[in-house]
Amino acid sequence: MTFQVYNTLTKQKEVFRTLEEGKVRMYNCGPTVYARIHIGNLRAFMFADLLRRWLEHEGYEVCQIMNITDVGHLTDDADDGDDKLDARARREGKDPYEISRHFADLFLDDLKRMECLPAHHYPRATDHIPEMLEMIDKLIADGYAYQTGENVYFEVGKFEHYGRLSGNKVDDLDAGNRIEVNQEKRAPADFALWKSDPSHLMKWESRFGPDGFPGWHIECSAMARKHLGDRIDIHTGGEDNVFPHHECEIAQSEAFTGEGFATYWMHTKFLQVDGGKMGKSLGNAYTLDDIEAKHHDLRTLRYTLLRGHYRSPLNFTWDVMADSAKALEKLDDLVGRLRRIAAGEEGAQDAGAGQAELDTCRSEFVDAMNDDLNTPRALASLHSLRDHAVQGRIGSACGASALEFLGKVHGALGFLRLEEDSLDASIEALIQERLDARNNKNWARSDEIRDELLAQGILLEDTGGKTVWRRG
Ligand code: AMP
Ligand code: ZN
Repeated sequence: MTFQVYNTLTKQKEVFRTLEEGKVRMYNCGPTVYARIHIGNLRAFMFADLLRRWLEHEGYEVCQIMNITDVGHLTDDADDGDDKLDARARREGKDPYEISRHFADLFLDDLKRMECLPAHHYPRATDHIPEMLEMIDKLIADGYAYQTGENVYFEVGKFEHYGRLSGNKVDDLDAGNRIEVNQEKRAPADFALWKSDPSHLMKWESRFGPDGFPGWHIECSAMARKHLGDRIDIHTGGEDNVFPHHECEIAQSEAFTGEGFATYWMHTKFLQVDGGKMGKSLGNAYTLDDIEAKHHDLRTLRYTLLRGHYRSPLNFTWDVMADSAKALEKLDDLVGRLRRIAAGEEGAQDAGAGQAELDTCRSEFVDAMNDDLNTPRALASLHSLRDHAVQGRIGSACGASALEFLGKVHGALGFLRLEEDSLDASIEALIQERLDARNNKNWARSDEIRDELLAQGILLEDTGGKTVWRRG
């Protein structure tokens, strides 16, 4: 099976074909850096990483660009809300650049902690003002945009395909927006390319006036064009980006070039928490620190986020995390087993045994991934491989090729632990000393050692008379 992806633009799965043979130009809408990202945002960014990893697995050379929105994203996504960054800077009496730098650094660090491959570039909107103004100028010259006072709007009625991505019709949008009081626009559905506000903290001089700042949508059109060119293969974002953000990007970019913009539009469904919406005010917009505070390994989060298909809503609960931790333990166990099988220490007598089982698991995995990145099915194939290993069906030669296969799986999914995990002799000694302390009912010393090891990232669990350790 060749790689197929669901395209929001055509509302169907399509065979993946690139503009240029063997090369993929991909743009991912990144975060608005006015706050720490939460695990919902991460679902969208990890999907971009998954897609990149799978394309590379399939032999493509990928250029991945993920932007950082550091100005112009308004709170209600329409033209009249507050700029999220500006609002926070004002509230805290800080320089907005200080805020955006702080959260952009945290964002990049969070991606690293989640084992996401670094994008080739993370362009920031504030570094691309001339490119945005260049596009705006041409859109005005070509009759797609108009200036009123010091503001510039895109006239959606002039772009024939407006609504193709989201299914929204210009007339319906206009009717729905009638209560809006913005008298400057020719039609209520028109959206801002450039806004003027003397009180805005981040502002630039342009031919439209001294105090302007860009609309959120023009930022992504300009950054995609600058770093990837006029036409790109894939554009991604969360489901809330379909409208208005991506609909408006298409209008701007295609009106500007007179040709198609992105071939495939791919959107991640929202992550829910405890079956409901995630929100800061609900106290469930968890960050990576919240996950670690509950003693969960971040690769358990990675596994959890991959358990659901990206186009299905995924429900995050602590029970699901505990379940993922167990599933990961099984996959860690699979790696250890295969290593012993390959070394002839366990497994089937016949070295070639298990070939058919391995072939089936491997093709199920690849088919699932090729089928619009169906990660739940791909994970199921790994667990059936473990069942075969546990039931002694695999011989040493197949054990070795199964390990090779897991190397590729790790390249695609990024959560396996393939290196041999052994503890320092000093840590082993401490665990033994704690065991002795417990046997002597010296609870104080036992607790002391547990805390000492915790500080080194080693978690101890006493179960069924045994002490097992894991990294936390
Ligand atoms: P923002 O910082 O608001 O621009 O959001 C960054 C990205 O995270 C966008 O692609 C959003 O669509 C996505 N996103 C926000 N909340 C969630 C969520 N709960 N689940 C999945 N993606 C989300
Ligand atoms: Zn964007």
